[in-house]
Amino acid sequence: MQLTFLGAAGEVTGSSFLLQTSRARVLLDFGLHQGGPGAAVANRRRLPADFARLDAVVLSHAHIDHCGRLPLLPRAGCRAPVWCTPATADLAGILLADSAHVQQQDAQRWGRKRGERGRQARSRPRRGHGADPTESARAALAPGPLYEMPDVVSVLEQFRTLRYGKERQVADGVSLRLHDAGHILGSAIVDLRVQDGSRTLRLVFSGDVGGTHQPLLRDAVTPDGADVLLMESTYGDRNHRPPEQTREELLQVLVAAHASGGKVLVPAFAVGRTQQILYELGEFQRAGRLPRMPVFVDSPMAITTTELYRRHRELFDEEALALVERGETPLDFEGLSFCRTQAQSMELNDLRGPAVIIAASGMLNGGRIVHHLKHHAGTPAAHIVIVGYQARGTPGRALVDGAREIRLMGESLRVNATVHTLGGFSAHAGRDELLAWAAPLAPVAPRTFLVHGEDPARAALASRLFADLRLASASPGAGQSVTL
Ligand code: ZN
Repeated sequence: MQLTFLGAAGEVTGSSFLLQTSRARVLLDFGLHQGGPGAAVANRRRLPADFARLDAVVLSHAHIDHCGRLPLLPRAGCRAPVWCTPATADLAGILLADSAHVQQQDAQRWGRKRGERGRQARSRPRRGHGADPTESARAALAPGPLYEMPDVVSVLEQFRTLRYGKERQVADGVSLRLHDAGHILGSAIVDLRVQDGSRTLRLVFSGDVGGTHQPLLRDAVTPDGADVLLMESTYGDRNHRPPEQTREELLQVLVAAHASGGKVLVPAFAVGRTQQILYELGEFQRAGRLPRMPVFVDSPMAITTTELYRRHRELFDEEALALVERGETPLDFEGLSFCRTQAQSMELNDLRGPAVIIAASGMLNGGRIVHHLKHHAGTPAAHIVIVGYQARGTPGRALVDGAREIRLMGESLRVNATVHTLGGFSAHAGRDELLAWAAPLAPVAPRTFLVHGEDPARAALASRLFADLRLASASPGAGQSVTL
């Protein structure tokens, strides 16, 4: 048996692993590489020819760095079923369609820029002969979309669903069980029993593990055994701030904005983070602590996702279910409205008095939040609340690092609003939570590989796994194969 680390080895994104036996080939995740100059190149790398002969694909959850390259499979001749939970199938439909849409917009923008450059080049006096060589090189590099909506539709037809805890044979000699991962709706720990010749081996892939205090969702399950463990290490080198502290900080911002009449802008990823913030705001209101001010979710994708969360209440944790039983709706409260259309979004510009506006993108590099920032960030009474991870090079990261002048979609913007960075709302387990998740497996000492983390995070987690649990681990490189 062989395991190949195709992605998320020494980086956080591009999750993808290939398991091969003498009888079957199974791909675990096929995510987009994100951020950094190498990502675009990595995403466009030609797929291995033997992808056409995959027997099954298993998807841990719907985040785009885990599912974002799946639409490339049908065109590569792969018609294998893609196994995941029902909620992941629903969410992946939304996220992959959005991914195709964003790529199309980017390609159009790129095309326009290239056209402008071409016109400028043509109006310049010609030196030597022919066109500017850098210009033709740029044209050759111009990326079209990686895939389009028909590719998304095509791969979604290959999706097959499996509920948590049920076992199912997915390829010759390979059976699959999925367990709660507590990360986003439908997220799963992948638990495979693999038979090859006389050998049987249990392979566990953590996917992304959620923190233990994640609202709405049940905590991550640790399978009761493993021979091989692929474990995420995103926050392997640090713990998050306690959630109670973060909640109080958020409440203080709302109280201050209410008193000064300012707007509270919350840039938030539409899937997961927006629902988490809505839950927290609902909790404040149920406890009679939320100041009376309207709350708007201004993102069509967040609206569809919130509806999905409400529909999949079978996945809620005990606290959220208790609310439902009391007749409450965990993701709804008085004063909450959703803006679906562009016109509804624009109307918020004329809104007087304090209000909370939650909109994507979470890192301020696009989406409706950009317009709200342009409208309000210059006002000293306004507040910008950063609730998620901000990648290097994004406007969100500049704000977190204290910049008062940022670039938004090509324009410079002066920020006079107060910026708050709240560190406790992560959807990922921190270091101690990862250790606690792995602890029950320590006695059986699975052969452990750390994935889905940058090298410093992997190294830190590796040393704590060994010091605390006597669990040795390896940190494989991209493209590396190991024999199991
Ligand atoms: Zn994730």
